[in-house]
Amino acid sequence: MEKTPPPPLSDVPTRPDGVRVSAPKCVRCGKAVEARYRPFCSQRCADMDLGAWATGAYRVATDEGPSDGSDGEGQK
Ligand SMILES: [Zn+2]
Repeated sequence: MEKTPPPPLSDVPTRPDGVRVSAPKCVRCGKAVEARYRPFCSQRCADMDLGAWATGAYRVATDEGPSDGSDGEGQK
């Protein structure tokens, strides 16, 4: 008496290893994003972006001057 063999795994869709669908890209340079540096590809790009913020590249021009840090956020 024969046992019924298990069904083949051909129903499982095969996908090549290492392929990611819609991999995020670095917002600075467009390279593949490293998970630990999201949304950047590297610490360098993260620093560049922070630097851009610090120098006002992302700021909308207003009549307000930069705050002197007396807004009590407690960051040091
Ligand atoms: Zn980058």
